[in-house]
Amino acid sequence: LFPVIAIDGPTASGKGTVANLVAEALGWNLLDSGSIYRMVALAAAKRGIDPANEAALIPVATGLDASFVHGRILLEGEDVSVRVRLEETGNAASRLATHAGVREALLSRQRAFCRAPGLVADGRDMGSIVFPGAFLKIFLTASVEARAERRYKQLIAKGLPANIEDLLRDLRARDARDSSRAVAPLKPCEDAVLLDTTTKSIDEAVRFVLDLAGE
Ligand code: C5P
Repeated sequence: LFPVIAIDGPTASGKGTVANLVAEALGWNLLDSGSIYRMVALAAAKRGIDPANEAALIPVATGLDASFVHGRILLEGEDVSVRVRLEETGNAASRLATHAGVREALLSRQRAFCRAPGLVADGRDMGSIVFPGAFLKIFLTASVEARAERRYKQLIAKGLPANIEDLLRDLRARDARDSSRAVAPLKPCEDAVLLDTTTKSIDEAVRFVLDLAGE
């Protein structure tokens, strides 16, 4: 068993960026579990499967042909690095992530990322379900306005379409769906340390996590 740092939180909270930098600083592996849900969404769309159709989604999740190569994300051999980040992909992912069967089907795939020397895992249920034995659990949040603004800047920087009002509305809808779902609702687990980054820089957030990790 290798050490795991679980970083959970709502969408666009900065947990992905923080997880990435913490993993880099420690020289550990990284699991961006949201991208796995996003890839299931893309694979389902390709097959014309609706995110509401749990029975049809389970084999797609089980047989997902996804790989991470030199920072690129490949789905069935096709580079989907850009499409995987689109808001519509995130929304579809959030819809299919409500199914217990889909979540179950992705468990072993996520746990396989736990390799030497350690893992930094980001998502919604890393500390609660996927890696309950994680030695450090962080619940990273920021106000919805701060998150919308960050997402806006990210999209613009990538030359993707963005509108702050649409982003705010989508984030609120996604927060509501992620926190109210019956399976693995988004909420800090008892042993998680809260980290509110509304007024913190990325560097400060990374430092906070590394300090807790004893680095
Ligand atoms: O984090 P990200 O926005 O990429 O995740 C997309 C969606 O996938 C989330 O809105 C959430 O519903 C779902 N998800 C999840 N459990 C995870 C990671 C993501 O349910 N561990």
